[in-house]
Amino acid sequence: MKDVLTTCAYCGCGCGLYLHVENGKVTGSMASRNHPVSHHNLCVKGWHIHEFIHNSSRLTQPLMRKNGKLVPVSWDEALDFTAENLRRIRDNTNCQGLGVLASAKCTNEENYLLQKFTRTVLKTNNIDHCARL
Ligand code: SF4
Repeated sequence: MKDVLTTCAYCGCGCGLYLHVENGKVTGSMASRNHPVSHHNLCVKGWHIHEFIHNSSRLTQPLMRKNGKLVPVSWDEALDFTAENLRRIRDNTNCQGLGVLASAKCTNEENYLLQKFTRTVLKTNNIDHCARL
């Protein structure tokens, strides 16, 4: 078994934890004793973060609703569909028909890119963050 030091991915606090890795699978998590943010503490999400990694109900590819049912599709099909509809809504609503919610699960860099995408591609200032919901 090996312990790998990492950062909790559930929220923006950035608590430090070790993931236990056994035979190529993550089997547990434990707080980092000396981490400067969390000081050997985790909330319930951090203590259970290892449980979703190999969970059989985890989504691993895009799903699209077709004839009333969600069916797996390729990333190309999902991205083409999304881009086409974002473009259509943007153009038909004078850029006011779309809004974007950023996420505390993203890094600062990802959230920065999201606001750039919203303002320059979607051409709206309708962007906010999940922390204010
Ligand atoms: S352990 Fe809890 S508070 Fe810390 S980063 Fe994870 S979700 Fe956030």
